[in-house]
Amino acid sequence: MNVALDQKQRLQAGMTEQKPAATRRARREDNEVRIVCLFDPGDTCGLKTKLSGLGYLVLSGDACTVCEDTLAVVINGTTDPDLELCRKLAEKTPVILLAEEPDFNYRLRAARAGVEAVVGAPYDLVEVEAWLSGYRDKESKTFTILVADDEELAAETYAAVLEAEGMTVAVETDPRNIPGRIASVSPDLVLLDIDMPGASGLEVALIVRQTRRYMSLPILFLSAERDSKRQNLARRIGGDDFIAKPVNLDDLVTRVKLRAERAVALRDVMERDSLTGLVNHANFKIRLAGEVERSKRNGNPVSVALVDIDHFKSINDTHGHQIGDRVIQALAHALVGGLRQTDVVSRYGGEEFGVILLDTDAEHAASVLDKIRARISQLEFEGEKGLFTVTFSAGVTSGTGERSADELIGAADRGLYVAKRSGRDRISIA
Ligand code: GH3
Ligand code: MG
Ligand code: MG
Repeated sequence: MNVALDQKQRLQAGMTEQKPAATRRARREDNEVRIVCLFDPGDTCGLKTKLSGLGYLVLSGDACTVCEDTLAVVINGTTDPDLELCRKLAEKTPVILLAEEPDFNYRLRAARAGVEAVVGAPYDLVEVEAWLSGYRDKESKTFTILVADDEELAAETYAAVLEAEGMTVAVETDPRNIPGRIASVSPDLVLLDIDMPGASGLEVALIVRQTRRYMSLPILFLSAERDSKRQNLARRIGGDDFIAKPVNLDDLVTRVKLRAERAVALRDVMERDSLTGLVNHANFKIRLAGEVERSKRNGNPVSVALVDIDHFKSINDTHGHQIGDRVIQALAHALVGGLRQTDVVSRYGGEEFGVILLDTDAEHAASVLDKIRARISQLEFEGEKGLFTVTFSAGVTSGTGERSADELIGAADRGLYVAKRSGRDRISIA
């Protein structure tokens, strides 16, 4: 099955020739090429071609010095039996260690050497890429924090120190407005004062948790409370931490940052499909709704496409379900590799993908997808009954906020239907 991916990546090799930006930037652009150093002579796992196809610049470890532009290093454990290389590099950059059958002792040694990620054989591209995209997000992500405290001066002080650390902060001093602000600001974390007039922070937290999608929103309580009974009540309603008043501002920044980072990392795991590492159905819709709003504000078009593999049932029937899964993964990689990093690719359903192309009208989106379609249709997959090829059909539509996310999906679906009806292996604009 590797045949397919390797061929695809060879086709895409052009994009890996790009040199990394020489200038150092405080915050990275999302579309910047990111360097991965691979310590695996001979590339026994074939990661170089696979990751290159996803837009990473993969350099062989011995030829590359780890620098600020390095996103992570990937080390094959067989080349570093005593983990000395891991120890040295982990001080500078995240290390992903590939280990045949890592047992407890091996993992313990890895953890002590500062290794964050251990991936066991068979080395799964989806898992390696998920770690990498996590590191990428961590660098480019600005956290949005809602500070809710009835004392305006205190709230503004917290906001100022958090903003100084690069976070985006919204302030709310009226408890009644907090749920509405959460909906409009979509914070990654809420800093919530307990002692407020009208409704306490604990009561506000109960209200926030009444809405299912805010169940996992991290809430840090600000409280002069030393009463462990009240603190336990706060924990029971999902308070993630307490910050004692008067507030130590250094402590505040550290705790808010760590909690927000952890929450975003966990959300990423929850929102992704395990077979492909793509955003799942529910979150595709949430993302699309957000992008529709954004497009309404800035007037730039947003395109939506539904992509469906042709005659997939017969691929499963002929070559088996496992090969079918590999085809789904290959198409996922082709879509991610062929689009911009800011675009959204999701596993919409079984063999169906949802794609959001930002700042792109339907004609342009269709031509981008058509290139991916042409590329995919040339790959040869190896199945139980020999080599075979795969095609897909897609429906595309675009808007600038005049139609809702659901309406756009409906239109893309009608386009997909037309593409299927008129012979498959094509893109149709709705
Ligand atoms: P069309 O060209 O009209 O899209 O035909 P199709 O055969 O692709 O469509 P159909 O909806 O009839 O069949 C889709 C098949 O995809 C049925 C289902 O068993 C299979 N499928 C769904 N999810 C998965 C999956 O995760 N892995 C595998 N291997 N198969 C899946
Ligand atoms: Mg107060
Ligand atoms: Mg299908």
